[in-house]
Parts: sequence; structure tokens; C-alpha cells
Amino acid sequence: MTMQERLKQISSSFDYHDNMRQILDTYLSMNTQYDLRKSGFLDHLCFWALEDYDTIRTSDKTSRSKIREGESALVQAILDDCQDVNLLLFTSVISVHRTEDKKVRIQTQSQQVFNVRTTIITVPLNPLHNIEFQSTLEFEKLCAIAEGQCRGDTKFWAKLKNSIEGTVIVCFGPDNALDIRDIVAVERELQKFLPNCKVEHVFGHDWRNGSFVESTWSWYKPGQGLSNLRVLQTSELPLFFC
Ligand SMILES: Cc1cc2nc3c(=O)[nH]c(=O)nc-3n(C[C@H](O)[C@H](O)[C@H](O)COP(=O)(O)OP(=O)(O)OC[C@H]3O[C@@H](n4cnc5c(N)ncnc54)[C@H](O)[C@@H]3O)c2cc1C
Repeated sequence: MTMQERLKQISSSFDYHDNMRQILDTYLSMNTQYDLRKSGFLDHLCFWALEDYDTIRTSDKTSRSKIREGESALVQAILDDCQDVNLLLFTSVISVHRTEDKKVRIQTQSQQVFNVRTTIITVPLNPLHNIEFQSTLEFEKLCAIAEGQCRGDTKFWAKLKNSIEGTVIVCFGPDNALDIRDIVAVERELQKFLPNCKVEHVFGHDWRNGSFVESTWSWYKPGQGLSNLRVLQTSELPLFFC
């Protein structure tokens, strides 16, 4: 079922409250970060369950980090606890070969080679097609990788000029509707809601076209949660897939 179909199913509850229907439409579009007709409903059920079936708790859980120093502090603490572990940043893996002696040879773009006993693949689904796997992965997994998942839309933050303590507005938008590098265009759009507002800075990134992520956050297309998730998570020893 698509998100749009689910919205239609429950829209009779909003017969006399079109404002409520519009708010729900906006809220769902923001969560999926994609066209509601192309995004699966199952992810939203999962999202809703993880957020304790409560809109206020959803906002609280998703809108801020519970770690004062930010998520990277947690990652750093895990790394500090590990022994003999090297963190390599800016190191693009181009191939993962399973060798005849049941080991793995990993090659990076800068021609570094690592021979290891096992590998955990944590690359998101959409850019996984950039890595060459030998021997090839299971056919169903290759199909799921080729299909990919929803690519998401635009998310950016705009800091307003002359506001109390510099208000920051979080903005979501559909398919390339706004060039966030054009501060005047961003300001013009925001002025539709906040006449005369002035934008000082815009923060954001073109996640959908970044070769390391090719999407914003994980969201399956209709039917993929049931048809693809299990095969994507199946290990193909000595490779494990997150
Ligand atoms: C704009 C935006 C806003 C978000 N807002 C929220 C929010 O408010 N709340 C929330 O809970 N979540 C949010 N998310 C989602 C959250 O960031 C992701 O769900 C989370 O980061 C996924 O973690 P991950 O480890 O699976 O993937 P990632 O964090 O994407 O990590 C995957 C890593 O693999 C690396 N990689 C990819 N390809 C290769 C390769 N070939 N070789 C080597 N390395 C490679 C990437 O560089 C990356 O470091 C947001 C995401 C985006 C983009």
C-alpha cells in the first residue's frame, strides 16, 4: 500500500476539516521525504511504532539528539573502546571479492587492498550498486539493490536575520523545487509564510546526488518492505549485511 492510498483511506475522517487533512498530508510528506504515491506505508507503521504511537514523542525523538555533544560523540566513544581498530575516512570501497579460501579482499578507489576474514557491509541501499561484488551476490539481492529505495527530497535549514537569537527554520521540499544554493530564491519562498523575513544563511546538502548516500533517509517503495528487506539482510558468508 502507498502512503497516498492510506491517506485516502482515512480522509473521510476529515470531511469537515480540510485544514487537518492538509496538515496530515504535509506531515506524512515530510516523514517519507518523497512523493506519497511512490512511498510505502509499511515504513510509516514502523516509524510510528518506534515513536510510541505519539506525535509529540515523534517530534521529540526525531528532532534533536539526546546526546549533548551530538551523535558523533557516541561514535567516537565506541571507537575509543575498541582496540587495534583503524578508522579510515574519505576511503571509497570499489570492490569486495570473496576469495576461494573463504576470505574477503576489499579494494579502495585509491588502490589500497585489505585482506580480511569477514566484512560487515553498512553502506546504505541506494549507493550499494557502486560496489562490485565477486562472486556476485544472490540474484534476489542484486535485484533489490538495482531497484533501490525512495531517494527522498530536499531538507535544509535557514537562519533568519535580525530575529531573536537567530531563529532557524527547518524546511522540507519536493523534487528539486528549490535551488537551496540560491539564498534569494529561498528567501522568496519563505516570505510566502513570513512576509519580510530575511535569510542570513542556508545550510543543507544535495544528499540525493551524493555518491555515498544517494538519498536522504531510508524509506522503502510500496511492497519492498515485504519483498526485499529479508533478502537484503541475509548474510552471504563471510559477508554480513546491515
Ligand atoms: C538531511 C537528513 C536529515 C535527517 N534527519 C534525521 C532526524 O532528524 N532523525 C533521525 O533519526 N534520522 C535522521 N536522518 C537519517 C539518519 O541520518 C540515517 O538514518 C542514518 O544516518 C543512517 O545510518 P547508516 O549508518 O545506516 O548510514 P549512513 O549514516 O549513511 O552511513 C553509511 C556510511 O557508508 C559510507 N559509504 C557509502 N558508500 C561507500 C563506499 N563505496 N565506500 C566506503 N564508504 C561508503 C558513507 O560515506 C557513510 O559514512 C536524516 C538524514 C538526512 C540525510
